[in-house]
Amino acid sequence: MCNCGSVHFYDVSFKLQGMTVVPTCKNCGESLSDEQFSKFEKELVKHWGFDEKD
Ligand SMILES: [Zn+2]
Repeated sequence: MCNCGSVHFYDVSFKLQGMTVVPTCKNCGESLSDEQFSKFEKELVKHWGFDEKD
């Protein structure tokens, strides 16, 4: 699992693992932790203007 301090949305790629698409850090090649993924989602919302429930 990725331990990089800050993972920006452009540092994330999506890899297919079996039937699941896993968000993966481009810097270390490891999958993101839940905390990193929620940060990544927030950045995505900011950059692309997606609207979420909160
Ligand atoms: Zn990483």
